Amino acid sequence: MHKDTLVVTGGRPEPVHDAPVNPPVVLSSTYRGTGDVADGDRSYARSANPTWEAFEEVLGQLEGAPCPALSHASGMAAISAALSLVPVGGTVVVPRHSYQGTLQLARRLQDRGILTVRAVDIADTTAVLRALPGADLLWVESPTNPMLEVADLPALITGARARGVLTCVDNTFATPLLQQPLSLGADLVVHSATKYLSGHSDVLMGAVVCASPELRSRLHTQRTLEGGIPGPFESWLALRGLRTLAVRLERAVASAAVLARRLQEHPAVARVRYPGLPGDPGHQRAAAQLTGGFGAVLSVVLHDDAAAAERLVAGLRVWTPATSLGGVESLVERRRRHPEEPTTVPENLLRLSVGIENVEDLWSDLAAGLDALADR
Ligand SMILES: *Cc1c(COP(=O)(O)O)cnc(C)c1O
Repeated sequence: MHKDTLVVTGGRPEPVHDAPVNPPVVLSSTYRGTGDVADGDRSYARSANPTWEAFEEVLGQLEGAPCPALSHASGMAAISAALSLVPVGGTVVVPRHSYQGTLQLARRLQDRGILTVRAVDIADTTAVLRALPGADLLWVESPTNPMLEVADLPALITGARARGVLTCVDNTFATPLLQQPLSLGADLVVHSATKYLSGHSDVLMGAVVCASPELRSRLHTQRTLEGGIPGPFESWLALRGLRTLAVRLERAVASAAVLARRLQEHPAVARVRYPGLPGDPGHQRAAAQLTGGFGAVLSVVLHDDAAAAERLVAGLRVWTPATSLGGVESLVERRRRHPEEPTTVPENLLRLSVGIENVEDLWSDLAAGLDALADR
């Protein structure tokens, strides 16, 4: 089946007479059992919940995994679980422009002497391959947040495998509809399901998807013991959102491509970072690796300074000034307003998460703000 069918058909209750069409929200902290707890029993609700399982089944199928995904309380809980695979004293190779929470967490683990962080430019394949010997885990984000750099996924994954290094790809930006890292040999995929998978900015959730049942079993035990589990209602909302992923993404990706081209022509804009633009450094890789478009996040660097970027954001009416991405509503943010954001991200860079509003309304709102900057 095609992925745009799977998002609709997966994770449904048994198709028997009078069965509900949707999985119920199962609110129970424990399950009836008899005798010993056997493998596969739900037992207690910190280890299993039928509402999670519906979401996990669909996400596992979408990523082409041999087993269901493992849902977590947030993207960061999923990332934390994946990082737990690095042995004490081990080394993780991380993109210098990965999601700032991932970088912060890895650096904190380093400060506590638990692991060593090697930060790399993930678009520089030679540099990444050079950082791999002796490492335990290669962390990949592609496209990166918020610089939209594109990694050579096949080369990095093959290189890591040859050196016995596990690869984990944060696939939040591309979603499994545009990119399936497991099919290229990655060992793990993580998601902030808060973003595109849920898609309505109303739930925090995360997931890990594993290339083998053995890895899944390890991470399942880890999840049960650390307890970073989602609530059943969050899982239900995430699956409800996932049903429309294909149509939401198709619309948002098409609008992002239009906006990127127009923004690039505007005199107030110094540079647009979007792999869909033919002049973008990541364009050729993205064209070879992504299926069905280049994503719906783009970044804009202005000619004017950070204060002007803030004025522009404050004056917008259709775009919402907020962090996060992947929802139906378009969001815009100057990333360097966060003190933790790497200083290699320009002060006057705005990250745009393109939603599903009419593209002409999105454009006229942006254009009015940019015109005002250009006129000053
Ligand atoms: C938001 C985000 C995260 C963190 O997810 P939460 O659900 O906020 O914990 C991780 N990676 C990427 C790429 C993100 O955009």
